[in-house]
Amino acid sequence: IFITVEGPDGAGKTSLIQTLVPILEQQLKNELIITREPGGIPISEEIRQVILDPKNTTMDDRTEALLYAAARRQHLVEKVLPALAANKVVLCDRFVDSSLAYQGAGRGLGMDEVASINNFVTAGKLPDLTLYLDIESEKGLARIQKGRQTSEIDRLDQESLAFHKKVRGGYLSLVAEHQERIEVIDASLELSQVVEASLSVIKKRYPT
Ligand code: C5P
Ligand code: MG
Repeated sequence: IFITVEGPDGAGKTSLIQTLVPILEQQLKNELIITREPGGIPISEEIRQVILDPKNTTMDDRTEALLYAAARRQHLVEKVLPALAANKVVLCDRFVDSSLAYQGAGRGLGMDEVASINNFVTAGKLPDLTLYLDIESEKGLARIQKGRQTSEIDRLDQESLAFHKKVRGGYLSLVAEHQERIEVIDASLELSQVVEASLSVIKKRYPT
Protein backbone atom coordinates (compact mmCIF):
# COMPACT_ATOMS: atom_id res chain seq x y z
CA ILE A 1 0.00 0.00 0.00
CA PHE A 2 1.38 3.34 -1.07
CA ILE A 3 0.24 6.24 1.15
CA THR A 4 1.39 9.83 0.67
CA VAL A 5 1.07 12.85 2.92
CA GLU A 6 0.66 16.19 1.20
CA GLY A 7 0.09 19.78 2.17
CA PRO A 8 1.42 23.32 2.03
CA ASP A 9 4.30 24.49 4.21
CA GLY A 10 3.33 24.61 7.88
CA ALA A 11 0.52 22.09 7.54
CA GLY A 12 2.35 19.73 9.89
CA LYS A 13 3.19 16.79 7.65
CA THR A 14 6.40 16.03 9.51
CA SER A 15 4.79 16.08 12.97
CA LEU A 16 1.91 13.95 11.77
CA ILE A 17 4.18 11.33 10.24
CA GLN A 18 6.41 11.18 13.33
CA THR A 19 3.36 10.59 15.52
CA LEU A 20 1.71 8.11 13.16
CA VAL A 21 4.72 5.84 12.76
CA PRO A 22 4.71 4.01 16.12
CA ILE A 23 0.92 3.67 16.01
CA LEU A 24 0.87 2.26 12.48
CA GLU A 25 3.77 -0.07 13.28
CA GLN A 26 1.56 -1.59 15.99
CA GLN A 27 -1.56 -1.75 13.85
CA LEU A 28 -0.34 -2.87 10.45
CA LYS A 29 0.42 -6.46 9.67
CA ASN A 30 2.92 -5.50 6.97
CA GLU A 31 6.25 -3.77 7.44
CA LEU A 32 6.09 0.03 7.30
CA ILE A 33 8.59 2.12 5.32
CA ILE A 34 8.73 5.85 6.04
CA THR A 35 10.32 8.07 3.45
CA ARG A 36 10.21 11.54 1.96
CA GLU A 37 10.48 13.57 -1.21
CA PRO A 38 12.56 15.14 -2.45
CA GLY A 39 15.03 12.72 -0.88
CA GLY A 40 14.62 9.37 0.80
CA ILE A 41 17.77 7.89 -0.78
CA PRO A 42 21.28 9.34 -1.25
CA ILE A 43 20.99 10.46 -4.90
CA SER A 44 17.66 12.15 -4.27
CA GLU A 45 18.85 13.74 -1.02
CA GLU A 46 21.72 15.26 -3.02
CA ILE A 47 19.27 16.63 -5.56
CA ARG A 48 17.23 18.00 -2.64
CA GLN A 49 20.31 19.91 -1.43
CA VAL A 50 20.68 21.53 -4.85
CA ILE A 51 17.00 22.48 -5.10
CA LEU A 52 16.67 23.87 -1.57
CA ASP A 53 20.08 25.61 -1.36
CA PRO A 54 19.26 29.29 -0.66
CA LYS A 55 22.45 30.22 -2.55
CA ASN A 56 20.94 28.92 -5.79
CA THR A 57 19.03 32.13 -6.48
CA THR A 58 19.06 31.77 -10.27
CA MET A 59 17.23 28.43 -10.40
CA ASP A 60 14.86 28.42 -13.36
CA ASP A 61 11.31 27.25 -12.60
CA ARG A 62 11.40 24.50 -15.20
CA THR A 63 14.82 23.37 -14.02
CA GLU A 64 13.40 23.17 -10.52
CA ALA A 65 10.44 21.10 -11.74
CA LEU A 66 12.82 18.75 -13.58
CA LEU A 67 15.05 18.32 -10.53
CA TYR A 68 12.06 17.42 -8.36
CA ALA A 69 11.02 14.97 -11.08
CA ALA A 70 14.53 13.46 -11.29
CA ALA A 71 14.73 13.05 -7.52
CA ARG A 72 11.28 11.43 -7.61
CA ARG A 73 12.22 8.97 -10.34
CA GLN A 74 15.29 7.67 -8.56
CA HIS A 75 13.47 7.43 -5.22
CA LEU A 76 10.55 5.60 -6.82
CA VAL A 77 12.74 3.06 -8.59
CA GLU A 78 15.29 2.54 -5.85
CA LYS A 79 13.06 2.54 -2.78
CA VAL A 80 9.29 2.83 -3.24
CA LEU A 81 8.62 0.25 -5.95
CA PRO A 82 10.82 -2.47 -4.40
CA ALA A 83 9.14 -1.94 -1.01
CA LEU A 84 5.68 -2.17 -2.56
CA ALA A 85 6.72 -5.27 -4.47
CA ALA A 86 7.76 -6.81 -1.15
CA ASN A 87 4.27 -6.09 0.24
CA LYS A 88 5.42 -3.31 2.53
CA VAL A 89 3.36 -0.26 3.37
CA VAL A 90 5.11 2.88 2.14
CA LEU A 91 4.30 6.17 3.85
CA CYS A 92 5.84 8.99 1.84
CA ASP A 93 6.09 12.67 2.77
CA ARG A 94 5.15 14.33 -0.59
CA PHE A 95 4.87 12.91 -4.12
CA VAL A 96 3.65 14.11 -7.54
CA ASP A 97 0.82 16.21 -6.06
CA SER A 98 3.48 18.48 -4.50
CA SER A 99 4.97 19.21 -7.91
CA LEU A 100 1.57 19.90 -9.43
CA ALA A 101 0.70 22.27 -6.56
CA TYR A 102 4.10 24.00 -6.07
CA GLN A 103 5.63 24.09 -9.55
CA GLY A 104 2.39 23.80 -11.55
CA ALA A 105 0.09 26.14 -9.63
CA GLY A 106 2.53 28.02 -7.35
CA ARG A 107 5.24 28.81 -9.90
CA GLY A 108 2.67 29.03 -12.66
CA LEU A 109 4.15 26.37 -14.96
CA GLY A 110 0.68 24.88 -15.34
CA MET A 111 -0.50 21.75 -13.62
CA ASP A 112 -0.97 19.87 -16.92
CA GLU A 113 2.59 20.69 -18.04
CA VAL A 114 4.06 19.49 -14.77
CA ALA A 115 1.82 16.40 -14.87
CA SER A 116 3.26 15.52 -18.25
CA ILE A 117 6.90 15.45 -17.09
CA ASN A 118 5.79 13.49 -14.05
CA ASN A 119 3.99 10.90 -16.15
CA PHE A 120 7.41 10.16 -17.62
CA VAL A 121 8.68 9.70 -14.05
CA THR A 122 5.93 7.53 -12.63
CA ALA A 123 4.74 5.62 -15.69
CA GLY A 124 1.31 5.79 -14.10
CA LYS A 125 2.24 4.75 -10.54
CA LEU A 126 -0.04 6.67 -8.19
CA PRO A 127 -0.50 6.49 -4.42
CA ASP A 128 -3.36 4.30 -3.22
CA LEU A 129 -4.25 6.93 -0.65
CA THR A 130 -3.20 10.55 -0.14
CA LEU A 131 -3.75 12.40 3.12
CA TYR A 132 -3.95 16.07 2.20
CA LEU A 133 -3.37 18.32 5.21
CA ASP A 134 -5.30 21.47 4.44
CA ILE A 135 -4.52 24.77 6.12
CA GLU A 136 -5.08 28.42 5.31
CA SER A 137 -1.89 29.95 3.93
CA GLU A 138 -1.67 32.61 6.66
CA LYS A 139 -1.92 29.97 9.40
CA GLY A 140 0.58 27.69 7.73
CA LEU A 141 3.15 30.44 7.30
CA ALA A 142 2.65 31.62 10.88
CA ARG A 143 3.44 28.11 12.12
CA ILE A 144 6.65 28.01 10.12
CA GLN A 145 8.06 31.12 11.77
CA LYS A 146 8.36 29.05 14.96
CA GLY A 147 10.57 26.03 15.21
CA ARG A 148 12.36 25.81 11.88
CA GLN A 149 15.95 26.16 10.80
CA THR A 150 16.83 29.72 9.88
CA SER A 151 18.01 28.77 6.39
CA GLU A 152 14.58 27.39 5.69
CA ILE A 153 12.79 30.43 7.12
CA ASP A 154 14.87 32.80 4.98
CA ARG A 155 13.93 30.91 1.89
CA LEU A 156 10.27 30.81 2.84
CA ASP A 157 10.18 34.52 3.61
CA GLN A 158 11.25 35.20 0.05
CA GLU A 159 8.26 33.33 -1.20
CA SER A 160 5.18 35.45 -0.88
CA LEU A 161 1.92 34.68 0.77
CA ALA A 162 0.46 34.91 -2.72
CA PHE A 163 2.66 31.97 -3.76
CA HIS A 164 1.41 29.88 -0.89
CA LYS A 165 -2.17 30.72 -1.73
CA LYS A 166 -1.59 29.51 -5.27
CA VAL A 167 -0.08 26.29 -3.93
CA ARG A 168 -3.12 25.68 -1.75
CA GLY A 169 -5.40 26.45 -4.69
CA GLY A 170 -3.52 23.83 -6.71
CA TYR A 171 -3.99 21.26 -3.96
CA LEU A 172 -7.69 22.03 -3.66
CA SER A 173 -8.20 21.52 -7.38
CA LEU A 174 -6.41 18.14 -7.11
CA VAL A 175 -8.73 17.22 -4.25
CA ALA A 176 -11.74 18.02 -6.41
CA GLU A 177 -10.32 16.00 -9.29
CA HIS A 178 -9.21 12.91 -7.35
CA GLN A 179 -11.82 12.44 -4.65
CA GLU A 180 -11.39 8.69 -4.72
CA ARG A 181 -7.69 8.94 -3.84
CA ILE A 182 -7.24 12.11 -1.79
CA GLU A 183 -8.68 12.53 1.71
CA VAL A 184 -8.70 16.04 3.17
CA ILE A 185 -7.61 16.42 6.79
CA ASP A 186 -8.20 19.73 8.58
CA ALA A 187 -4.64 20.62 9.56
CA SER A 188 -5.64 23.70 11.56
CA LEU A 189 -6.73 21.37 14.37
CA GLU A 190 -4.44 20.23 17.16
CA LEU A 191 -1.91 17.55 16.29
CA SER A 192 -3.77 14.91 18.32
CA GLN A 193 -6.92 15.53 16.30
CA VAL A 194 -5.03 15.50 13.00
CA VAL A 195 -3.54 12.15 14.01
CA GLU A 196 -6.96 10.82 15.00
CA ALA A 197 -8.52 11.90 11.69
CA SER A 198 -5.65 10.39 9.69
CA LEU A 199 -5.84 7.07 11.53
CA SER A 200 -9.56 6.83 10.97
CA VAL A 201 -9.12 7.45 7.24
CA ILE A 202 -6.41 4.77 7.03
CA LYS A 203 -8.54 2.32 9.05
CA LYS A 204 -11.58 2.97 6.89
CA ARG A 205 -9.56 2.16 3.76
CA TYR A 206 -7.45 -0.65 5.15
CA PRO A 207 -9.26 -2.39 7.98
CA THR A 208 -6.82 -4.38 10.11
O1 C5P B 1 8.03 19.03 2.87
P1 C5P B 1 9.33 19.68 3.17
O2 C5P B 1 9.23 20.67 4.30
O3 C5P B 1 10.46 18.73 3.33
O4 C5P B 1 9.65 20.54 1.85
C1 C5P B 1 10.79 21.31 1.79
C2 C5P B 1 10.52 22.55 0.98
O5 C5P B 1 10.45 22.25 -0.41
C3 C5P B 1 9.24 23.21 1.38
O6 C5P B 1 9.54 24.49 1.86
C4 C5P B 1 8.45 23.32 0.10
O7 C5P B 1 7.99 24.62 -0.04
C5 C5P B 1 9.43 23.00 -1.00
N1 C5P B 1 8.85 22.21 -2.08
C6 C5P B 1 8.58 22.80 -3.32
N2 C5P B 1 8.10 22.04 -4.35
C7 C5P B 1 7.88 20.73 -4.20
C8 C5P B 1 8.15 20.12 -2.95
C9 C5P B 1 8.64 20.88 -1.91
O8 C5P B 1 8.78 24.00 -3.48
N3 C5P B 1 7.45 20.02 -5.21
MG1 MG C 1 8.06 19.09 6.74
